[in-house]
Amino acid sequence: MNNCVFCAIVDGDAPSVPVYDDDDVVAFLDIRPITRGHLLVIPKRHSQDLETLDPHLGGALFAAGQRLSRAIRRSDLRSDGANLVLNDGKAAFQTVFHTHLHVVPRWTGDTLRFVTGFVTRRLKNPEATASAIRTGLTRLDEEEST
Ligand code: 5GP
Ligand code: ZN
Repeated sequence: MNNCVFCAIVDGDAPSVPVYDDDDVVAFLDIRPITRGHLLVIPKRHSQDLETLDPHLGGALFAAGQRLSRAIRRSDLRSDGANLVLNDGKAAFQTVFHTHLHVVPRWTGDTLRFVTGFVTRRLKNPEATASAIRTGLTRLDEEEST
């Protein structure tokens, strides 16, 4: 028991709305999203920050973030881009000390919505959002298998 909320999510001891899972990482909706579909990708094995993250898991983290960004573009959320951000340490505004990569979907011309979302950070229709992203992943899989 290390008192880490993200480890509790990995272990199924805390709730989350998951969208992706593999051997190394899991991704779920941020509880206070800046934009619709804002995800957190985390290594299953606890590390605190970039100093303590196994570089192999860093690769897996980014690969999943890339895949999820591409899936959200193909989903009914129809994003046009994304910000992939990793806040490393208190100095960089890290607040949860289990290494995580933010995937923040973006739309052309969304600046005002983005700024408003930064202030309100309200989670709306989480199940529908997660379901749309999972469908985007399926579309990406299908595209890659043809
Ligand atoms: P940081 O500032 O550490 O990079 O971001 C931490 C992120 O974790 C924040 O965006 C915050 O909304 C999110 N967060 C904090 N606690 C929880 C939680 O219990 N569940 C989920 N899904 N997200 C969380
Ligand atoms: Zn942890």
